[in-house]
Amino acid sequence: MEHCILKVVLDTPLDQRFDYLWTATGDEAMPQIGQLALVPFGRREAVGLIVGIEQSSDVPADKLRQAIAVRAQLTPLLPRWMALCEFAADYYQRPLGEVALPALPKNLRVEKTVSLDRALKKLAKQAAGHDASPVAPPALNAEQQAAVDAIADAQGFLPVLLYGVTGSGKTEVYLHAAARLLADDEAAQILILVPEINLTPQLEANVRARFPGVTVATLHSGLAEGERLLHWLAAHTGRARIVLGTRLAILASMPQLKLIIVDEEHDPSYKQQEGLRYSARDLAVWRAHQMDIPVVLGSATPSLETWYHTQSDRYRKLELRERAVQDAVLPKIGLIDLERRAPREQVTDGLSETLLTALKRRLDCGEQSLLFLNRRGYAPVIACDSCGWISNCARCSAFLVLHKRDRLLRCHHCGWEQRIPRSCPDCGNVDLQPLGRGTQRIEETLRELFPAARVLRIDADSTRLKGSAQQAFDAVHRGDVDILIGTQMVAKGHDFRNLTLVGVLNPDTALFSHDYRAGERLFAQLMQVAGRAGRAAQKEGGNASEVLIQTRYPQHPLYDALRRHDYDSFAGLLLEERQQASFPPFIYQALLRAEAKELQTALDFLRQAADCVEHDGITFNDPVPMTMTRVANMDRAQLLIECTSRPALQAFLKTWIAALREIRTRVRWSLEVDPVDI
Ligand code: ADP
Ligand code: ZN
Ligand code: ZN
Repeated sequence: MEHCILKVVLDTPLDQRFDYLWTATGDEAMPQIGQLALVPFGRREAVGLIVGIEQSSDVPADKLRQAIAVRAQLTPLLPRWMALCEFAADYYQRPLGEVALPALPKNLRVEKTVSLDRALKKLAKQAAGHDASPVAPPALNAEQQAAVDAIADAQGFLPVLLYGVTGSGKTEVYLHAAARLLADDEAAQILILVPEINLTPQLEANVRARFPGVTVATLHSGLAEGERLLHWLAAHTGRARIVLGTRLAILASMPQLKLIIVDEEHDPSYKQQEGLRYSARDLAVWRAHQMDIPVVLGSATPSLETWYHTQSDRYRKLELRERAVQDAVLPKIGLIDLERRAPREQVTDGLSETLLTALKRRLDCGEQSLLFLNRRGYAPVIACDSCGWISNCARCSAFLVLHKRDRLLRCHHCGWEQRIPRSCPDCGNVDLQPLGRGTQRIEETLRELFPAARVLRIDADSTRLKGSAQQAFDAVHRGDVDILIGTQMVAKGHDFRNLTLVGVLNPDTALFSHDYRAGERLFAQLMQVAGRAGRAAQKEGGNASEVLIQTRYPQHPLYDALRRHDYDSFAGLLLEERQQASFPPFIYQALLRAEAKELQTALDFLRQAADCVEHDGITFNDPVPMTMTRVANMDRAQLLIECTSRPALQAFLKTWIAALREIRTRVRWSLEVDPVDI
């Protein structure tokens, strides 16, 4: 009778490999590394990944338990995929099992062998692609062609920044490069990462239209488990030649991966903010290196990390300088000085006279406008004039936001909701006033000011129902909307063709944020939202496209660079600042977060954490409460550590995390490597 020892990792915080005895009962094949096994774990059963097969075990024979079953239908995950998970686990300081298993579809990880057979059947039947006729691609301009050549002709690893203004045709470069690689190698697979798939359905439609007959798999958190299994299997078996997905797709099994594309590489949503706090962009570069293939990072406003790498020639910069569509030009960016005295800028309910005039001009000639305000709800807070009461969340250090239509006060951090009080809870005053403006309030104002205009709001509140965001965007594309108002949801890659005005309300707060990345983010966000205007040539008798930003600080260097569409000099400025202040990318950071019922408990834990090991060469900052200290009745504090060398920091983190695990505490803590929100 044949038997062996399976070394298995499981989705548990215990950082170890578990041994199980495997015995052949019939004529089954021997298990293989990279297969999944159902094993007993404590009092339950769990699915684990086989990472080793040996003849003996250190576990005493009477303690060694028997594996229940091996999922033999699934072709084993390849060593390279496991190495990717191992790297991520190692770098982000998590157990391998907590990285590898959650990267697999849930239906593979449940005890019952649900639907795997059926899925593999179903997959075989799934028609390859659609039968639509292919859409002819536009002829590339010279810069696009040069970029495609550089990518498709790359021999081996090549990290590329595709740096091009909004509308410069970066997507065309991706699609052409993909087409070349797919044609050259009949097994080749291509991974395209996007920040949020539901907000950029155009890309998916483009990809499908351009590659009829090619199986395109999509991977994102919105998929039902059954669908996720199918798409994952399509990638794993090599049937899907193109995988389009959000950050989680970076861990997809793609045995024939030949190119990775990261669209809008600067987007914060590439960073996972819980569990394994990874950067999908950084992993993409690592994976491309591992596979010895090109990786394309596309952006009009690259992250400073990426920009810095192009300056030191570690990444190759390929530039697209012009808008691709004939005669489409970048919009003119104007600043509306809200403090201007002579002549005084009139402001009605948060909207300046200059902006209202520009809106009116668009309405008069049937063009669309977009107003961007990154704050949803009606007003960020309601207040009592007579005693100073304001609507605070009882569970968080945050305001309750007024949602007038729902007649609710809502906390955007913990989800707490309550009815709007009729009178001040402290003094009984019935005249409670909304302070500040959110998208709902601006929508209300616009409807009053322009009763004939078709106004549409797009934000997280207006698009709660599945498919409603898509419907809203379709309405804009069809021309059923005159004025669109929205949060950052509307800023992303939409190719609005009839939009000639973008108004930006209230961006100033980010200029004075405690977060040193706020400027970089604001610039990217404003460039991106500005990029929604002027995507087609100016119509005869129509308006030139323009962006109007309402600000109290028109002299600020950020706005100055923005006005000139000058990311280069702005990035140069930021890098200089970062170097002087010793911020990333000039230093490497890790952040230990702790939360407890009492702030003091969290801070005490962090102090203990700072003292539990020797840390020469590592800078320990003082433990501090987080800026938003209280969320959902938990107080949160953090300890930032820094080092000028990445390997030294990594080495330290290994010993540190081992020591942290030994501390007996009720505090919930987590460690983040390369943190972004600090
Ligand atoms: P980006 O991703 O850089 O913002 P897109 O790839 O969305 O830009 O391109 C903007 C528009 O230009 C799209 O409508 C696209 O079809 C069009 N376009 C791209 N390349 C060309 C080209 N070479 N000739 C004509 N139109 C093009
Ligand atoms: Zn009061
Ligand atoms: Zn709250």
